[in-house]
Amino acid sequence: MINEFNLDYIYIMDYIPQQSPEHNKLHTFFENLRAGRLTTTRCPSCQRDFWPPRTVCPLCHSNTLEWVDLPSTGTVRGFSIQTSGAAPGLTLPMVFARVQLTDQVGFVARVIRVDPAEMEVGMTVEPVVVSAPRDRVMWAFRPKI
Ligand SMILES: [Zn+2]
Repeated sequence: MINEFNLDYIYIMDYIPQQSPEHNKLHTFFENLRAGRLTTTRCPSCQRDFWPPRTVCPLCHSNTLEWVDLPSTGTVRGFSIQTSGAAPGLTLPMVFARVQLTDQVGFVARVIRVDPAEMEVGMTVEPVVVSAPRDRVMWAFRPKI
């Protein structure tokens, strides 16, 4: 048999990032997440936090960013409910929300363990670590009880 692929796994359709140091310069993010910490990077010179985490400050180009923990709760600023077209392995409906965590950091993420009918702007959510295939992790939010 001829081996035409120098891969042990086809990554092209995999929407979950590779998380090991040899595959990802931001592997610390996933190590922190695995430890239950949702983190991002801060530029000590600019005193700005960025999302997504970065290796270089987009303002001053410093490469000495530090890891900081994001708050344990966020506020839903808007949301959308996906009812069709789920990626393989995901079930519908899925809820996505714009979650504001700090004055500087907010982003769109999945909200899990929620009845879509109960979603509302202004609700408080908390980050959760979600296991992903091939010993990886991702983050989502759930309503704060
Ligand atoms: Zn900077």
